[in-house]
Amino acid sequence: HMVTVRYADGKGWYEPRVEARGPIPMDPASAVLHYAQEIFEGLKAYTTPDGGVAMFRPDANANRFNQSAARMAMPALPVETFLQSLHEIIKIDRNWIPEDPEGSLYLRPFAYASEVFLGVRPANEYLYLVIASPVGPYFSGGVKPVSIWVTPDFTRAAPGGTGAAKCGGNYAAGLSAQAEASEHGCDQVVYLDAVERKYIDELGGMNVFLVLDDGSLITPPLTGTILPGITRDSVIKLAERAGRKVEERPISLQEWREGAASGRVREAFACGTAAVITPIGTIKSEDGDFTVADGGSGEVTMAIRKELVDIQRGRAEDPFGWVHRVL
Ligand code: PMP
Repeated sequence: HMVTVRYADGKGWYEPRVEARGPIPMDPASAVLHYAQEIFEGLKAYTTPDGGVAMFRPDANANRFNQSAARMAMPALPVETFLQSLHEIIKIDRNWIPEDPEGSLYLRPFAYASEVFLGVRPANEYLYLVIASPVGPYFSGGVKPVSIWVTPDFTRAAPGGTGAAKCGGNYAAGLSAQAEASEHGCDQVVYLDAVERKYIDELGGMNVFLVLDDGSLITPPLTGTILPGITRDSVIKLAERAGRKVEERPISLQEWREGAASGRVREAFACGTAAVITPIGTIKSEDGDFTVADGGSGEVTMAIRKELVDIQRGRAEDPFGWVHRVL
């Protein structure tokens, strides 16, 4: 199925509908096709041990959606409407949620400029939709480290750009970088900052953390060039609750490389909704390759991963009230 809600200036959001999933008619002059005014979110619904259905921090997705909307000069969607649209699709597509306790129903809320006109200005009409698709476990047969390629050619976002927004254009611009990473035999691309080409920003679809030899965590700060990951935020809160120091500060590639060599950097991991947490294996770059420790699954990485997944799946206490029961 799909959920649709329309928007028009002066009218606000109106006509919420749940209908059979199918093509959406579009005029060739629909603004989104030309000026890419479009934003989206991604989150999962899954079964809980007692047979219910839950989502993880959907309110955080709603807030990020509205931050993306503000950046793209689009109207905010009431948080209630966002949450309700997810409830509706889960209720009607419940049979699509995999039985597998590690599987889930991926939810994709998005909105785009549907007004028909050619001209560079914010549209006066938008369409919001939600579609859903079942996904199996991200890893079958145990967590596997991701290999990453430090792109010398491309940046993800410059200061003042759209890096902090989840808009389609960011991902379109990342396709060449991802292809470059694949050509170098890597799973994902890692971007350096656009100004000095020195500091780590993030991966194509994940945020980055390093674990230092004193047990503390470091991660690049939210200065507007990276996506404020909800998994990133959850990792910070869990680590701090466990008494770990977490520093959000610039991390240069050089610090990472030298720390890996000296033992100051003990573990490296990436995080995002899809894989939750995954160790970073080989780091490839034009200046040579390196790994942190043996490039495998570090102790702290795997402990935080287990803690987070257990909370998400209802197997552990939920101290922050993150799990949102739907059914
Ligand atoms: N950075 C980028 C560029 C992403 O696409 C994602 C995935 N949404 C993330 C980071 C991780 O964000 P989250 O933890 O909210 O999935």
